[in-house]
Amino acid sequence: MTGEKTIFKKIIDQEIPAEIIYEDELCLAFKDVNPQAPTHVLVIPKREIPSMAHLKSEDQELVGHLILTVGEVAKILGLENGYRMIVNTGTEGGQTVDHLHLHLLGGRAMSWPPG
Ligand code: 5GP
Repeated sequence: MTGEKTIFKKIIDQEIPAEIIYEDELCLAFKDVNPQAPTHVLVIPKREIPSMAHLKSEDQELVGHLILTVGEVAKILGLENGYRMIVNTGTEGGQTVDHLHLHLLGGRAMSWPPG
């Protein structure tokens, strides 16, 4: 980490706006600014963790909470026909923001494999 705030930390700190769908003491869910599906939400921990590769065993409960939150947000948004959860990790994983985030994509049929 460079010490400079990521765009997601700025959203957590309410320095830049975001369309918040859900929030609790551990995480925040907001709409992706460049949606790749009719529904595209990002679920992030409020604690700064750069990526999945930085998770430690003591983060187990937090990770469970993040995944369950994706499911809850999917229910809130009425994605009863299914959805996809993606965690891009590192350069080759396609990660562009160095703050752990779970993508929730839905509202259309997904294809496989991803690009
Ligand atoms: P990644 O490529 O790291 O897996 O995903 C980063 C995501 O963050 C992208 O889908 C991108 O559209 C989204 N994003 C980047 N900047 C902003 C922003 O300022 N606000 C919101 N809501 N989403 C952002």
